[in-house]
Amino acid sequence: MNIILLGAPGSGKGTQSEVLCEKKSFTQLSTGDLFRNNIANKTPLGLEAQGYMNQGLYVPDDVTNKMVGDYLESNHEGLIFDGYPRTVDQAKELDLMLAKYDKVIDKVVYIDLDDSVLMSRLTGRVVCEICKRSYHVVTRKPAVEGICDFDGGKLVTRPDDQEDKIKTRLEVYNNQTAPLISFYEDKLVKIPSDGKTPQEVFELIVESLGI
Ligand code: AMP
Repeated sequence: MNIILLGAPGSGKGTQSEVLCEKKSFTQLSTGDLFRNNIANKTPLGLEAQGYMNQGLYVPDDVTNKMVGDYLESNHEGLIFDGYPRTVDQAKELDLMLAKYDKVIDKVVYIDLDDSVLMSRLTGRVVCEICKRSYHVVTRKPAVEGICDFDGGKLVTRPDDQEDKIKTRLEVYNNQTAPLISFYEDKLVKIPSDGKTPQEVFELIVESLGI
């Protein structure tokens, strides 16, 4: 089964992917993480993506699709697409790329959360430099301040998690990614997440996917 986690920045896609991989044996394909790895390794792709990402803008579709296409050559089943597709053109391209391997997107999980909650989540978010797990300085603190519970990595604020950039990212999401909700109408399961814990959201996802 291949699924997409759809939702605004800060809706908890990364957190849910992490648990779904751990408990339900999916493999996460996060385009944001792939870009950040390329930036850390100073690859040409990373250098190209960095300028867009630092402004809170999307990396162009052709660059993003190519990166995903390369990944799919070695793995195209049991995937969670986290942060991809983000535009209708990417979604159409993904269908074509998966068809090469006789694969499809089975379900699209839409994590729905109010904009004001998204903003407060993102402004307090810190992520592990090593494993990329997310914490929050108020609502999801690690046992030792600034250190990842899982692997002892340093917790850092992402460069695009500053208030002005978050605003841009939410705007870009509403303009370019929200149309995917109707694009995927037939495959969509909507998870209302306001006021729910990550564990409750996870349980709703598992139930709605029947897995
Ligand atoms: P994320 O970690 O998913 O929040 O992504 C961080 C940033 O990476 C985004 O704000 C974009 O600049 C870039 N990015 C990640 N995925 C995509 C995508 N599917 N299309 C275009 N840009 C992307």
